[in-house]
Amino acid sequence: MSSSTLSLAPPELLAKYEPVIGLEVHVQLATRTKIFCGCPTSFGAPPNTNVCPTCLGLPGALPVLNRRAVEMAIQAALALNCQIRETSIFARKNYFYPDLPKGYQISQYDKPLAEHGYVDISVDGVKKRIGITRVHMEDDAGKSQHEGFRDSDRYTYVDLNRSGTPLIEIVSEPDIRSSEEAYAYLTELKQVLQFVEVSTCDMEKGHLRCDANVSVRLKGASRFGTKTEVKNLNSFRFLKQALDYEISRQVALIESGGRVVQETRLYNPDTGETVGMRSKEEAHDYRYFPEPDLVPLRVSEAWKERIRASMPELPSALRARFVEQYGLREYDAQVLTLTRPLAEFYEKTAKASKDPKAAANWVMGDLLGALKAEGKEITESPVSPEQMAELVNLIVSGEISGKLAKEIFPKMFSSGDSPRTIMEREGLKQISDTAALEKIVDEVIAANPKQVEQYRGGKTAVLGFLVGQVMKASRGQANPAAVNQLLKAKLS
Ligand code: ADP
Ligand code: ZN
Ligand code: MG
Repeated sequence: MSSSTLSLAPPELLAKYEPVIGLEVHVQLATRTKIFCGCPTSFGAPPNTNVCPTCLGLPGALPVLNRRAVEMAIQAALALNCQIRETSIFARKNYFYPDLPKGYQISQYDKPLAEHGYVDISVDGVKKRIGITRVHMEDDAGKSQHEGFRDSDRYTYVDLNRSGTPLIEIVSEPDIRSSEEAYAYLTELKQVLQFVEVSTCDMEKGHLRCDANVSVRLKGASRFGTKTEVKNLNSFRFLKQALDYEISRQVALIESGGRVVQETRLYNPDTGETVGMRSKEEAHDYRYFPEPDLVPLRVSEAWKERIRASMPELPSALRARFVEQYGLREYDAQVLTLTRPLAEFYEKTAKASKDPKAAANWVMGDLLGALKAEGKEITESPVSPEQMAELVNLIVSGEISGKLAKEIFPKMFSSGDSPRTIMEREGLKQISDTAALEKIVDEVIAANPKQVEQYRGGKTAVLGFLVGQVMKASRGQANPAAVNQLLKAKLS
């Protein structure tokens, strides 16, 4: 029952409805070892080598909670403006799956680590707050790898290296109202978690996984509609596409007299469609109960405050400060705080430079452009913040023109030399010295009698041409302001 586009709603019908979305996001914490044992979490080890009796789920093996994982989970929760529960409880979530040898996941249920948080997003300049219901800790399952297509040679391999990797699950309130808002929410979430360095949030490696709950209702209706849960959204683009498809599917269904059934649906990136996977009736009964092998997790006020004090400035605060302190535009502040290393690079440049706004333009434009062209990260920049600032300062002091700076920058980038070194080595210094300039100006006046006559006859626009001639004769090294003055004085 696929054949797609027919079952989608046209824009005029979509406009009658309001989507309601809540996201459930799993994030892998960047600990060195697993959540309940000492096995390494390193990626890419040979299958089933990073394992021990605990993460293999062997009878009698006991879990020991990783303190570092708790600290990271608390950092994440604080960064998401959550309240940390003084006592939280681990619970068994029971289900059968080949890559879950214990037969249950250790998660948290009615007493999660943290609750009542929020994330602020901005879509088309409109700011909005998205509530976070809870942040809880859990262990990851292993991985199944399927191979072959014919029954006679079809195999499934189970790799338990990932079993016991620490995760947090972040559940949002149903506050999101469009696929764009969902995209912005996930973007902000990822940025915040990367800033506090609790996860790489690398979606390709599965360090950030997202499930979306979606329903639609007539605009103005007070009750939510029946939701579906869409899984398999392993990129930001897929999240947006899947939501747009699912919203449209639900509206078309309701408009044609049908009803949305509560079910789990799988997004297929090849077709851009969502397909029903299991209905609520088939849904798991997880038979949650408190994990008997772990004591309640207690987070003292003192521990929580120590963790809070150790956290870096968060992106939203940093953006506001960049606007305030360095006079940046909102958009520029946003670009320069995309990652923590970039924000730190810019801040060092700004502090060492006499013109923080110009510094912002150089970092965002020339530097990021050059890095991108070579596929490099800001941490690999051959130009240091101090050198970037020195270039800005050479312009501010009038030693070089902006035009010369544009010539010097690529040389800094390819050689790693300082701008002053390059300027002196290549004789690229701006000529402001009047005697030297006068000589060139006199030559240009002598060589262009017609334009000189026009200027004196009142056609002052010709001045631009004459300035250009002087700049050319000086190979771009003349100080344009000084040339202007000199020419005017000589011609009047
Ligand atoms: P369930 O009991 O099915 O797990 P929850 O109430 O725990 O549902 O919510 C799970 C997620 O679904 C949350 O992110 C929440 O914001 C979202 N959600 C809840 N109700 C709706 C709805 N009617 N439409 C869209 N999303 C919803
Ligand atoms: Zn182990
Ligand atoms: Mg629930």
